[in-house]
Amino acid sequence: MRLADKINQSNRSFVVAGPCSAETREQVLSICADIAKNDNVQLLRAGIWKPRTRPDSFEGLGEEALPWLVEAGKLNGLQTTTEVANKAHVEAALKAGVDVLWIGARTTVNPFAVQEIADALKGTGKPVMIKNPINPDLALWLGAFERFEKVGITDLTAIHRGFSVYKHDKYRNVPSWEIPIALKENRPEIPIICDPSHITGNRDLLLEVSQKALDLNFHGLMIETHPDPDNAWSDAAQQVTAEGLKNILDQLVVRTVEFSTDVAEQINELRDKVAILDDRMLELLSARMQLSEEVGLLKRENNITILQQEHWAKIISMRLEQADDLHLTKQFVRQVMDAIHQESIRHQTKIMNPKTLKG
Ligand code: PEP
Ligand code: MN
Repeated sequence: MRLADKINQSNRSFVVAGPCSAETREQVLSICADIAKNDNVQLLRAGIWKPRTRPDSFEGLGEEALPWLVEAGKLNGLQTTTEVANKAHVEAALKAGVDVLWIGARTTVNPFAVQEIADALKGTGKPVMIKNPINPDLALWLGAFERFEKVGITDLTAIHRGFSVYKHDKYRNVPSWEIPIALKENRPEIPIICDPSHITGNRDLLLEVSQKALDLNFHGLMIETHPDPDNAWSDAAQQVTAEGLKNILDQLVVRTVEFSTDVAEQINELRDKVAILDDRMLELLSARMQLSEEVGLLKRENNITILQQEHWAKIISMRLEQADDLHLTKQFVRQVMDAIHQESIRHQTKIMNPKTLKG
């Protein structure tokens, strides 16, 4: 069966596990044997070529480690996967007998590299998993799928591993869930699994992010596991032991997408109430913009600029103070106020400079 079909039909419990990097034959064989005891683990991973941000980090052992992963797969009756970033990697992985290849985030970002890998796989029918690019660019992610499809590689799966940001206080790579949700909207037939290891960079947050992914209908998880995580040669803080993996998987609640008519009635009742509030919110926003236009008229008559920096700073700080009492996050209040402000500026611009606007 195609890997994508298997993942789609797994009832959202497809698990890919294994070490960030293959370090020794013993390490690969021991962690794979331990995680294979867990029925949910269906695909074994190990990084052979590691794209590291800084040159002095461990960059993977390369080809010599490939047979260890393949051996672990055979011993445990499971398929194997590794990351490939160029044609030479593809050829070596195919020759060694790795079952599934994945494209890393630092490769998806580069169309030349993606095309080179796609061309190298032409005619092989290999399953490929494509991680999101490191930057939150949906088109680049979609483009990578299209490059493989164009050469006839159609057994494709998406992996969401979060997006790079400078110094985030919680995540190594922010999830920006709207991007994988948009991918699902565009390509509903492509299964998508979540890699909470690279999103969190922290084993203590794996459960929380994994549960969220399942609640957003992801089809499975990729979780890095290691016999001795604290001493791993790469990504030590985010890896878990086989037991740690089992703990996480045991605690996860897999909820269903379907619901009974009885529940549907209750949900619809609430949704109707939500729709009434949404209606009111939009009407209020429209009325608010009419007031902005009146302000714009006065500004035009008196030759005053649109942006009144101090006034805006006062409004923002006043609204942010209300956030806690209203049980809203400050970040959300900030986003809403910024959006309202932008729309208000558009309305005032229209009133104040009608001739400079086209259309
Ligand atoms: C990995 O899975 O080990 C890896 C390097 O991931 P990413 O491409 O998401 O950084
Ligand atoms: Mn890793």
